[in-house]
Amino acid sequence: MEIRYNSTRSKSAPVKASEAILRGLSEDGGLFVPDHVPALDVPVDKLAEMDYQQTAYEVMKLFLTDFTDEELKDCIARAYDEKFDTEEIVPIVEKDGVYYLELFHGATIAFKDMALSILPHLLTTSAKKNHVKNEIVILTATSGDTGKAALSGFADVAGTRIIVFYPKNGVSPIQEKQMITQKGKNTCVVGIYGNFDDAQTGVKKIFGDRKLAEEMDAKGFQFSSANSINIGRLVPQIVYYVYAYGQLLKEGKIKAGEKINVTVPTGNFGNILAAYYAKQMGLPIDRLICASNENKVLYDFFHTGTYDRNREFVLTSSPSMDILISSNLERLIYHIAGNDADKNRELMSALTQGGTYTITESMKEKLADFYGNYASEDETAETIRSLYEKTGYVIDTHTAVASCVYEKYRNETKDTKPTVLASTASPFKFTRSVMEAIGGEYGQMEDFELADKLSEISGVTTPKAIEEIRTAPVLHNHVCEKDEMEQAVTEFLSL
Ligand SMILES: *Cc1c(COP(=O)(O)O)cnc(C)c1O
Repeated sequence: MEIRYNSTRSKSAPVKASEAILRGLSEDGGLFVPDHVPALDVPVDKLAEMDYQQTAYEVMKLFLTDFTDEELKDCIARAYDEKFDTEEIVPIVEKDGVYYLELFHGATIAFKDMALSILPHLLTTSAKKNHVKNEIVILTATSGDTGKAALSGFADVAGTRIIVFYPKNGVSPIQEKQMITQKGKNTCVVGIYGNFDDAQTGVKKIFGDRKLAEEMDAKGFQFSSANSINIGRLVPQIVYYVYAYGQLLKEGKIKAGEKINVTVPTGNFGNILAAYYAKQMGLPIDRLICASNENKVLYDFFHTGTYDRNREFVLTSSPSMDILISSNLERLIYHIAGNDADKNRELMSALTQGGTYTITESMKEKLADFYGNYASEDETAETIRSLYEKTGYVIDTHTAVASCVYEKYRNETKDTKPTVLASTASPFKFTRSVMEAIGGEYGQMEDFELADKLSEISGVTTPKAIEEIRTAPVLHNHVCEKDEMEQAVTEFLSL
């Protein structure tokens, strides 16, 4: 059955999947949501026989109903290939009674690769289907991780260009090196003298510049965004929960139909929302365990029914979860309001105006599937250390937040159902925090030395993503003032 995408903020005309991917955000500021969640049409026991690419096809075809089989299979084949360092794409590692779903085997060793390796292909296919002749120019501001994952996804993809702005002194040395050594003629990386907010503001300004858009159109270009609220990023994330279930069946860890729990380290609420959709599709999932760091807006929300962003922003060792406005939560709010755009719009405008909103009692009842908790900085470090001492397995800081919260859940509820935990980054990406958690004496070492030491104590080979940048030549050395960003764009596009 064909699926159309509605805005979470109005009943404006629903659009096809390819249009929703091209637009990213609805014109009324809402996010695109499917008009219904399709049921999985493969019996669960068949999942055990499917590899990652087949599972991706079975899940995504149900959501992207205006893509032909050939188009979708082509996108999947281009995305999930030898860019990943294992044929399984996402291996599952059982440690201390938990199934760690390793989502970090792609090009930039964090889970953003799962969606950003396929988004460029979904986007160029959508452009073709909608007779867009212009070249698509992706414009992104990054605080570190998303920029590299987007660069690597779009590099050398025909019909696209990508420009990434990052705060010159606001990213880690490894993150900067990852970006400025990026290959691909269609890539452009620019450091700015300013912070992440300056970069983000500059990008929004360029997006809003009508005159520039006209000039671009005349030369055959148009902007688009690789932002995490694009449904082209959400749908590919449903796949790995379905795949994980199949793999557990295959290995005899669960019986067909047996319920599992899912634990997710959460920031913008995209990853856990994908697990929620997997459950709506009929995948036997019981609880969705939402893990936060010290920025615990979501924990408070699940406990009180009030979302309140009026609080201090805490810088933690899990920076990709340092977020006070979880954009994708808006989709859940819309669904638990009974797909009510008016109610959702009312709550979102309260959030914009006063930074807070409260859901109704009946909406709150629909959150029973979720459990929220958080981990402090000390608890996160302690989790990394104790798991390492017990098993020799090293996890990154984001995964550790989830692991700690899962432990709290198990102690509180005595629920011992098999649990899949989304492992969102390689420990090699956050080497310093990880090594300091394991042993204080590592604090003095340099970044690459730390990576060698981590490899030695964990018995895991240093990932290619780290090895490559040790000696890679710098290919981007453009740094500009924050009010020169538009000029950087016009130069790169030779306008
Ligand atoms: C982005 C990110 C998260 C948060 O995921 P959301 O989908 O935004 O909730 C968690 N861990 C890592 C390593 C990330 O890069």
